[in-house]
Amino acid sequence: DRTTCWLLGDQLNPDLDVLDRADDVLLIEAHGFADRKPYHAHKLTLVFSAMRHFRDDLRERGYDVTYVRADSFGEGLDEFFADRRPEADGGDDDSGPHLRLMRPAGHGAGERLRELVAERGGTLELIDNELFWTTPADWREWAGDGEAAIGEDGAAERTFRQENWYRHVRREADVLMDDGDPVGGEWNYDDLNQETPPDDWTPPGRPTFEPDELTRETHAWVRERFDTWGNDALDEFGWAVTREEAREALDRFVRDGLPAFGRYEDAMVGGEPFLSHSLLSPAINLGLLDPREPVRAVERAYAERGVEPGAYDPDDHGDGGGTATSLDEFGGDAADGEDGATGGRATESDEPAPVPLNAVEGFVRQVIGWREFMRHVYREAMPELADANQLDQERELPPAYWDGETDMRCLSEAVGHVREFGYAHHIERLMVLSNFALVYGADPADVNEWFHLGFVDAYHWVTTPNVVAMGSFGTDVLSSKPYASSGNYVNRMSDHCADCRYAVSRTTGEGACPFNALYWDFLKENEETLRGTGRMGLMYSHVDNKDDEEWAAIRERADRVRELAGDGEL
Ligand code: FAD
Repeated sequence: DRTTCWLLGDQLNPDLDVLDRADDVLLIEAHGFADRKPYHAHKLTLVFSAMRHFRDDLRERGYDVTYVRADSFGEGLDEFFADRRPEADGGDDDSGPHLRLMRPAGHGAGERLRELVAERGGTLELIDNELFWTTPADWREWAGDGEAAIGEDGAAERTFRQENWYRHVRREADVLMDDGDPVGGEWNYDDLNQETPPDDWTPPGRPTFEPDELTRETHAWVRERFDTWGNDALDEFGWAVTREEAREALDRFVRDGLPAFGRYEDAMVGGEPFLSHSLLSPAINLGLLDPREPVRAVERAYAERGVEPGAYDPDDHGDGGGTATSLDEFGGDAADGEDGATGGRATESDEPAPVPLNAVEGFVRQVIGWREFMRHVYREAMPELADANQLDQERELPPAYWDGETDMRCLSEAVGHVREFGYAHHIERLMVLSNFALVYGADPADVNEWFHLGFVDAYHWVTTPNVVAMGSFGTDVLSSKPYASSGNYVNRMSDHCADCRYAVSRTTGEGACPFNALYWDFLKENEETLRGTGRMGLMYSHVDNKDDEEWAAIRERADRVRELAGDGEL
């Protein structure tokens, strides 16, 4: 019997097995979602242009592709079914079309689509989604069966830890393994990955792809058709919209970005949105790259150009570049960490630089650890996760998140990157954008919505665990303490504070860094939930050391900061 392979807009890969087994292909470009929120113009351009390129690519490869543009999937299916009525096929068999779909990543989406197809007299078969490395069955085997992950208030009924999952997947998938042991002897080299670059270090630069005619057309249509947010000019677009471009972006990263990826992974530098990050999430999340590809590519690079952890110094100064710190000690008064490893010299020829094991391992961990982990935690914790708010935070996001207007340099830089490119790197997302929203008291669901519409790589399945659980601590399902920090962390990991109007060294009074008072006030306000959790003991010993007078001044400054932020005057 005839089977149509239905591929969604984030399943754009021509090498999928599911395509081999199909008679024809259906793609529905549904627009309705983009009418409901002001998405970043680059995000809509990227998704729709990538779909249209994929349609053309499949046709060139000889597939019979039906491409429907509609407001909703329901309407798109109506059009497809009208074409596929039994009479239209000339047959007398009155059973409707049979569609096969890789299970969508969004919660409940597979079942909703199955109903839409059934209502029209067809059948929809859901199969595992090849564009994730691990399957729900793999996760079940690791996590075991259990109750719902979180309760209605957001408090975890079960907890999951990324590091354990990461080691499990590395073993199972045989990634960076040496006879059953991790290559190099350690599972995790994160202590070498927390440096800041010296002033004269030049990042490798962002590989950009010139928009072609189809992208230009799509962009013009997006601008006319939708209310968007952020930069709506095409000049800074540059994202890969085809598989070929995505592969080139991967090659460029492996050649140029990977050597310093680890060392400067957590750094923030004014005017440098991209540093050594791979910028591959938009392509991976669209399916243009299979997540196995970047992982195997960095493994290969390690086999060819690999050096010991820390044995390559990208800044060629041999002094370690900056001050190491750790996310484990991001609290207010935490002491400086130790300097990271140094050594090695950058090559001066055109030969690609060596890739130290800490860079390779760090990258692999992001993809098979964090990315796969987030996908499964989302599956486990939805639908409660979307509204989880164990700290009962209810403030609206301040206007600075929309217009970027604030004198806080860290925040204006990070929001500026999102407005300009639909992108900010991980530490800006976690330690500036969501950290500020957290200590300010923003509602996690609102923060999630802001990330979802503003970022080119945002999809509900990936944004929700990252924003609601990791960034907003709406639930403790994946971390035992919040990623909350004072201005101290930003100061150590960036060059922002030196030029900021606010003094990072001060907590109270006019001109004090807003992060500081908000941070302490947040700890005090949420003491009941946080004091006993995870590794918060050190922070609460600092809380206990402050006297009433200090607390009064902190409260006054925190109130003032919230008022200024709410009025758009921070
Ligand atoms: P790199 O730093 O080069 O990392 C390599 C790859 O690892 C990424 O391309 C991505 O595929 C994967 N990765 C790393 N961390 C994560 C993670 N925590 N979850 C999932 N994948 C990860 N990632 C998204 O893809 N979409 C989002 O909408 C998104 N929202 C986020 C919101 C917050 C508050 C936080 C803290 C993180 C969010 N992330 C999101 C995760 C991560 O920040 C981005 O994947 C990463 O910054 C993308 O840039 P890159 O490709 O240059 O990443």
